[in-house]
Amino acid sequence: MCKNFYCQKIYLLLFIHTLNYAQRLSIKLGKTIIHRMLFKTIRSTLTTFNSLAIAGLCAAVLTFSILTHEDLYSEAVTSDLDALSNNLSQDLVPYLSGDEADLIDIRTLLLRLEEYENVKFAVVFDKNYQQIDVHAGNTLQVDGKIDMTVDREQLMDIPFGMSSKNGELYAYKRVGQANIAEVGYLLIVNDLEKPLVRSKLSLLLKVLPLTFIVIAIGIALSLWLNSRLLFPLQKLAKLAHKIKETNDYSIDIKVHGKQEVLDLSSEFSGMMDTIHNEEIKNKRYTKQLMQQRKDMERLANFDSLTGLPNRQYFMETLRKSLSIAQREDDDLVLMYFDLDGFKGVNDTYGHEVGDKLLIEASKRTQRFLRHGDLIARLGGDEFLILLYNNPNDFVVSDIAQRIIKEISKPFDILEWEILISASIGLTRAKDASYNLSDFVSNADVAMYKSKLEGKNTHTIFVHEMMEDNKRKLMLANNLMPGLKNGEFELYYQPKVDQQEEIVGFEALLRWNSSEFGFVSPVEFIGIAEQSGKISEITYWVMDQVMQDTPTLIEAFGDETVVSLNLSAHDLRNSNLFEDIQNLFAKYQLRPQNIEFEVTESTYLENFDMANEFFRDIREIGSSIALDDFGTGYSSLSYLTQIELHTLKIDKQFVDNLGVSKRSTLVTTTIVEMAKQLNLNICAEGVETREQRDFLVESGCQQLQGYLFGKPAPLEAILKTFGTK
Ligand code: C2E
Ligand code: CA
Ligand code: CA
Repeated sequence: MCKNFYCQKIYLLLFIHTLNYAQRLSIKLGKTIIHRMLFKTIRSTLTTFNSLAIAGLCAAVLTFSILTHEDLYSEAVTSDLDALSNNLSQDLVPYLSGDEADLIDIRTLLLRLEEYENVKFAVVFDKNYQQIDVHAGNTLQVDGKIDMTVDREQLMDIPFGMSSKNGELYAYKRVGQANIAEVGYLLIVNDLEKPLVRSKLSLLLKVLPLTFIVIAIGIALSLWLNSRLLFPLQKLAKLAHKIKETNDYSIDIKVHGKQEVLDLSSEFSGMMDTIHNEEIKNKRYTKQLMQQRKDMERLANFDSLTGLPNRQYFMETLRKSLSIAQREDDDLVLMYFDLDGFKGVNDTYGHEVGDKLLIEASKRTQRFLRHGDLIARLGGDEFLILLYNNPNDFVVSDIAQRIIKEISKPFDILEWEILISASIGLTRAKDASYNLSDFVSNADVAMYKSKLEGKNTHTIFVHEMMEDNKRKLMLANNLMPGLKNGEFELYYQPKVDQQEEIVGFEALLRWNSSEFGFVSPVEFIGIAEQSGKISEITYWVMDQVMQDTPTLIEAFGDETVVSLNLSAHDLRNSNLFEDIQNLFAKYQLRPQNIEFEVTESTYLENFDMANEFFRDIREIGSSIALDDFGTGYSSLSYLTQIELHTLKIDKQFVDNLGVSKRSTLVTTTIVEMAKQLNLNICAEGVETREQRDFLVESGCQQLQGYLFGKPAPLEAILKTFGTK
């Protein structure tokens, strides 16, 4: 018993050590795996693995301990039985030594076996292998029937000493000294199987609960260790989850744990910092990109100067509005708005003033717009306004008039006070059958009509205007063929001095079109300018004038000056001066015999280029006359700055001489001023003697008009005014 107890203790210790080892092994394994696997897999794998390992090991140890117990038990029983049988066979010697076996003593001796519960039976033989006594052991008494007879044959099969067979343990001993004084034999048969089973059962009963407790503790311990070990990882995982949820990469991470986990967490931290920095950078880039997109959108859709929607944006909106209006059988009103002579302001006062004027003018205009009206800058000094809610003609005219009135008030820009006017064209969507380009072009046509009608006014589009436009287009297309076909001709109108002696001529262009008949230069010069054909026409005129001038000089003297008209577009032609010089060379002409007439507005619209041209012209000896002086601009300050020879007083002043006090005053003032500036004065459109007398009295040096001669072809001039 005692021995058994020690054995059990040893096994238990062994069992616990094994468990501990298994635990450590699993943790070690777990740790290795942690570094390789994802957290969640690791955790579940580890837990399952640990639990399985603990349970398996418990079972293994249990089996092992049972097997060992079995061996030890048999060993112990064998050794016990060995000792017992030895003692008994020793004690039997005296009772078997005599001739007659002492049966009572033998039986009494065998009764000692009563103490041993597993003894099946014991048989005492004499030296001839005759059974002397049989003792039925406890097992037999309990189990009942058992064959206790053992004959000599059977006995021969059993080796002396201890042996076991079929779950039975045999103690077969000699009584007396072997070979010399053998007096008999003792056989004790001990049951080995049943007690072993019982013993194993009792061991199991004792150990199993403990095993379960150990397994439970082991699993709990493993879970705890796992969670302790995985806690930093768990924290990392939670953090990762939080980051995923919040997208906040700035979250700080503080994880304490084993070195590997610390390394991992610090790597993780580093990665997080990188991501955070990248995120900040990304945010900054995104912001920049958004800003750039906004800027690009603004650039694409809005005018940078006035901040108003631009052409593209307006046209897009207009397209949509038109399709809605058409679907709902509604009408739209479009206003085309253009500042008169804006180019002149730009050239005279500089672009800074021009830009400010545009901003101010757009602000003034917006004051008269209602909520829902859309204004856009088309470019230059042109604006488009889409009037909201289809106002009637009365309202439309009222808005246009108010804008015109407001624009005509002086603008204070930098140190200048600037006067400007606006021409407005208005049209309705129905008149364009809701066609976008027709809609805009109708408004443009109406605006152009306002310009033709003296500017500073508004016009509502009517279809007849389109006819004008068609004619304009056809004339434009016929200009070049007409020039080639010789449909153009120069007329010359004489200019006389105070004594009415011819001093020069003005060349005036005539177009006798095969298709349209006689076309006034007032009409076709503008069309030639707009269609970009004026340069060729001017070149033709210059060539023709220079060709004719020698004839006129011959007829009217060396000092005869022939004037020709240049348009605003000519001054923008950089080849102009070179062409002129080449023509002088071609016709061997003195530049002194040619004068260039440039209108006041042409000059002001091309301020810089005009000044350069004037300087060049003056240098070669030709002269410049400022045509139509007194119309349009009120700023006279530029007169002191330019290289002029002559001021041509416009016909409208001459017409009003003696009629309007104001015109008379203006004319005399102009003449006085010109004298101060050392400029020649030429009065245009002189038709009456009174006009002539007044002008001569005022100090006007040259006169031109029907009174002295209408424009006529060269031959007619020569014929009428004869030779000198
Ligand atoms: P402009 O340069 O002011 O020319 C004077 C205009 O007044 C001419 O008209 C002339 O015929 C007209 N005129 C002259 N005296 C009288 C008068 O006593 N009474 C009336 N009622 N009219 C008079 P025209 O020839 O019809 O030319 C009109 C305009 O066409 C010119 O005005 C000029 O600006 C332009 N023009 C004519 N020929 C040319 C040309 O070769 N080149 C350019 N660029 N423009 C030209
Ligand atoms: Ca002229
Ligand atoms: Ca003129």
